[in-house]
Amino acid sequence: MNLRVRFAPSPTGSLHLGNARTAIFNWLFARHHKGQFVLRIEDTDRERSKPEYEVQLIESLKWLGLDWDEGPDKGGPFGPYRQSERLEIYQEYVQRLLKEGKAYYCYCSQEELEAERRQCLAKGIPPRYSGKCRELTERQRQQYEKEGRRPAIRFRVPDEVVEFEDLIKGKMRFYAGDIGDFIIVRSNGLPAYNFAVVIDDAFMQITHVIRGEDHLANTACQLLLYEALNLTPPKFAHHPLLLAPDRTKLSKRHGAVSVEEYKKEGFLPQALLFYLTTLGSGAQKEIWDKDTLIERFDLKMTGKGNVIFDRNQLLWVNRQFLRSLPIETIANYAKDFVPEKTDNKTLKDFLGLIRENIATLSEISTFWPVFNQPEINLSEEAISTLKEEAAQMVIKLFYGALESGRSDYESILKEIQQKTGLKGRKLLFPLRLALTSQKSGPQLHQILEYLPREWIKLRLKQAFFA
Ligand code: GLU
Repeated sequence: MNLRVRFAPSPTGSLHLGNARTAIFNWLFARHHKGQFVLRIEDTDRERSKPEYEVQLIESLKWLGLDWDEGPDKGGPFGPYRQSERLEIYQEYVQRLLKEGKAYYCYCSQEELEAERRQCLAKGIPPRYSGKCRELTERQRQQYEKEGRRPAIRFRVPDEVVEFEDLIKGKMRFYAGDIGDFIIVRSNGLPAYNFAVVIDDAFMQITHVIRGEDHLANTACQLLLYEALNLTPPKFAHHPLLLAPDRTKLSKRHGAVSVEEYKKEGFLPQALLFYLTTLGSGAQKEIWDKDTLIERFDLKMTGKGNVIFDRNQLLWVNRQFLRSLPIETIANYAKDFVPEKTDNKTLKDFLGLIRENIATLSEISTFWPVFNQPEINLSEEAISTLKEEAAQMVIKLFYGALESGRSDYESILKEIQQKTGLKGRKLLFPLRLALTSQKSGPQLHQILEYLPREWIKLRLKQAFFA
């Protein structure tokens, strides 16, 4: 069997981390099993869908390192891959359902439906459509048409039990009677999600649907449609959703939630890919690259119970990738965080110096001015430490050694230690402050090697007279 999966985002906003996770699972599943990964754009919600969001979604997916075998930008044998371009295909199946009496026109207005809904809630029962238009006569229909009402089309939900074996959650069971006749074509003529998705998944020969468990109830509706249309359903796998630390759905009020925002903050795609893939399977002790993720991927990794997004864990992962990826790779992503004209050699040397001291690329900004211009601004705090007698002594001696042309920093430090009796932090900290005005950062010997000699002297002088 040729395994085929899809990611089917609606272009109504930027790529949310939760959706990115679904995309990643599908992609890894396809690559692990040497199947196909399809990108399909579900843009039938005219008001909310925007072409620029599609562009953004595609960019975010590519940035994460995902690639697809078929999609709106690539074409493929089952296209088109945008639902708005597939309306004729849906039409054919709607007609079939109407003809077979499995679907019917519904003329209920928004207000009528809302009133029904409120009645259900008042009675304490879950709201569902009453079936008011189920058995309309031709005359009643004509009357409604005359009134200028535009009908939606509803699926006549049969009275049965829907059962399926979810690849993650195991046996699932729904009583269809609880669902109520749902809309398959809206009154504006556009197909509703549950309907379009069934036609597309069947038509595109999707074998596995992997998506968030918020779609479980939809799956019941979709299985009823597969049955009514005599189509073979795919296998389903519903993964737990990504929650915020307060155990509610991760949303804007918790901070950054889109892939784009994390990119802007200076997270590496490798880190986000790894973290989103593995956070459901417990604390990570080692990081894996893309190929290892593909090799080891298993649907079980999507998690059981609550999957909680923890920014600190992601920061830890990002740090690991910043330390371990080739400098060339990091330089590529770091370009957006340094002045435009920075040459590659400068950038790589600089990253080599600070990569262990940052958790995200945006933290470059705290180090860039310190290491890329001759002078620095000493903070008030630094100045007050540098004014202490011991500090002044260290700086003076160090400066003196440089003045005499020496650059054997280690022996200079040893001599100062012997002369002053100062050692460890007492000896090194004033120099760090004088050279960077920062309390922490790269090791002192790295700083000394990195900074041009003239800059070092300039800064020592500035610290001495601070
Ligand atoms: N367009 C749907 C969404 O973004 C797709 C759900 C599905 O995978 O079927 O939620």
